[in-house]
Amino acid sequence: MKAEKKTNVFPQTLHDAIKYFADEDRALDFMKAIRWPDGVVKCPCCGSTDVSFLSTRRIWKCKNAHEKRQFSVKVGTVLEDSPIGLDKWLCGFWLIANAKNGISSYELHRAIGVTQKTAWFMLHRIRLSMQDGSVERMKGTVEADETFIGGLRANMHKNKREQRKATGSTGMTPVMGLLERNTPDRHSRVRVKVIKNTRKGELQTQVREHVEKGSEVFTDQHLSYMGLSDEYAHQFIDHSECYVKGRVHTNGLENFWALLKRGIHGTYVNVEPFHLFRYLDEQAFRFNERKDNDAGRFVKVVSRITGKGLRYAKLIGKDGDGLLKPSWATTWMMRDILFGME
Ligand SMILES: [Zn+2]
Repeated sequence: MKAEKKTNVFPQTLHDAIKYFADEDRALDFMKAIRWPDGVVKCPCCGSTDVSFLSTRRIWKCKNAHEKRQFSVKVGTVLEDSPIGLDKWLCGFWLIANAKNGISSYELHRAIGVTQKTAWFMLHRIRLSMQDGSVERMKGTVEADETFIGGLRANMHKNKREQRKATGSTGMTPVMGLLERNTPDRHSRVRVKVIKNTRKGELQTQVREHVEKGSEVFTDQHLSYMGLSDEYAHQFIDHSECYVKGRVHTNGLENFWALLKRGIHGTYVNVEPFHLFRYLDEQAFRFNERKDNDAGRFVKVVSRITGKGLRYAKLIGKDGDGLLKPSWATTWMMRDILFGME
């Protein structure tokens, strides 16, 4: 049998990625570089570097005496406890990082050959990796706007529909968006999140939390934004009169809302408000990384996996709010190492 020649060129297309990561050693090397960028494997339990590699099982064993001495490259990441191979995980990451309008669990299930239930779980774990951990405030010129994500009742289970009717809830979820406009050295980027309501307290809290004082803030005429001018150069556009007044408009966010809604309604037939924030993270990630290529987006998502274990019970809402606090310091540090930022 003729051995296929190994290529070490990093994949640039999905087709390349499938072939590249089908080689278990190469997939492991890639994950090792992501997890331990300095090349030193550390026990996730005690932090010791005194570990031995069991090559037949592709796992490590810590030499210190404690529980869970054996660990794989997945431990301590969103892939933890998953029996799915790295080859499928990495192809899943590639697909999700680069699908323009998102990808449903049915598509993923057919594309990589796992059950739909497994695909659903993988999707949610990958989305968790797409969260923007940036704590840096937006500055310069920032558009602020809110929208409602809804129209989901038709797809809702009957019991839930009844429940909604009984509580008088419309099934519409308010979402707040902030868009920092282009600067000479950076293209525009968004931050989106599910908010409690669209009242003044909530909207202004978001602006004050995410936008540096003194920045220009453009909004519509919504009364909830009035009063921002104490700390910001706030200008608003009255949509009953016009949509653009020179530089004052919220068209950047309007475009993002259109993209977001197309993604949600076209691809995901069944987004529960409970899970909405993950879809928002996913679309915001794609928007913010739109200037990168497929390989770059893929590496960025994968490089964020550490410190974000996510158990099934949490994900389906049986325990807590489904969100474990990720360790941004770790993921950001790795990103900096991988991409030479700052
Ligand atoms: Zn250890």
